[in-house]
Amino acid sequence: MPTLADLGEFEVIRRLTAARSLRGTGVIIGAGDDAAVLRPGAGRDLVVTADSFVEGRHYDARWMDAETAGRRLAIANLSDMAAMAAEPRWALHSCGARRDQSIEWLLAFERGLDRALGQHGAVLVGGNLTAVDGAAWSDLTLMGEVERGAAWTRSGARAGDRIAVTGWPGRAGAGFLLASRIGEAAREPRWRDVFHAWTTPASRVALARALAPLRAVTAAVDLSDGLAGDLAHLCAAGGVGAVLDAARWPEDQELAAAAEALGVPLETLRLGPSDDYELLLAIRPESFEACLDVARSLDVPLHAVGEIKPREAGVSWHGPTGTTPIVAGGFDHFGPGGRPIQE
Ligand SMILES: [Mg+2]
Repeated sequence: MPTLADLGEFEVIRRLTAARSLRGTGVIIGAGDDAAVLRPGAGRDLVVTADSFVEGRHYDARWMDAETAGRRLAIANLSDMAAMAAEPRWALHSCGARRDQSIEWLLAFERGLDRALGQHGAVLVGGNLTAVDGAAWSDLTLMGEVERGAAWTRSGARAGDRIAVTGWPGRAGAGFLLASRIGEAAREPRWRDVFHAWTTPASRVALARALAPLRAVTAAVDLSDGLAGDLAHLCAAGGVGAVLDAARWPEDQELAAAAEALGVPLETLRLGPSDDYELLLAIRPESFEACLDVARSLDVPLHAVGEIKPREAGVSWHGPTGTTPIVAGGFDHFGPGGRPIQE
C-alpha cells in the first residue's frame, strides 16, 4: 500500500482531485487552477465556516475508519450551515498528513468528506496538502448561501419562545464515554444508537432549509459543545434566560441505560459535553406546530424541551426534584475546566 512519501506531493494531489466529484453549481473554475472561482446566486448572502480535526483528538483509528472520520468532519461543518439556515455550496479541504500515511487512507477520508458534502449539494473546489511530523490534521472550510438577510443567528430569542431540539442530545457524548470506559463492548447492539450518534451523526441541513421560509425560528445554534454550553451561548447572545423542562424531554431509553452503565445522572449526559451536531432552536410559540409538521414531513425528530425566559430568570433545569440552575459545562478547548469531549 503506497504511502504519501512513495508517491510524492503532486501525485497525491492528482489522485485526490481526480477522485472528487464535481456536482456543484456556481463553480466557474474548480480544483486544478491556482484558485477556485465561484459565483453565488443573485440576492444571496455568503455564509462561511471552518472546522478542524486533529488525529488522536477528534478521531481515533480504533473507532472511526478514514471515511467515517472524513464524513464526521463534513457533518461538523454542515451543522454550522444548518444553524445559519444556509444552503451548503463549496468547500476547501486543507490537511497536514504524515509521510507514512497510506494514500488509501487519505483518499478514503476525502471520500467521506466528498460524499457527505455531495448529499447536501456542496462540492470540494480546492484545498492544500502539507507534510507534518506530528499528528495529522484536517481542516475543512465550507461556504454556503442564504437568502439575503435571512440567516439565523444565535441572538433574537425572546421570552415566551419555545426551545426545541432535534434528535436526542447527549447521545454523542455518551457514545464517546462508553467507548472510552468499556472499550470494544461499546460496539454491542445495545449501544448502537449512542455509538453511532458519536461516530456518524446526522446532518440537519434539510430541516433548517425547510424551516427557514416559515420565519418562525428566532435564534439557532448547533450542538457542538453540549446542550448546557450551547444554550448558554444562545441566551447570552439574545440577552435572555431559559428553563428546560425534564418532563417534556423525549424519552431516550438507550441514553438512560448508558447513564446507568456510566454511573452518571441522565441529566449530566443530556446537558454535558456532547458534539451531537443537532440543532437547538428558539421558535415563536404560535408557529411551533407548523415547524413540527415540517419536521415530521422530513422524518426529523423535533421536540419542545423548554421556554425562553427573561434574562433575570437565568438558565435553569426543571426536574422532578425542583428547579436548579444550569452551569454551562460544554466543550471549552482552552478554559480552566475545559475537557475536550475526545480527549
Ligand atoms: Mg456551531
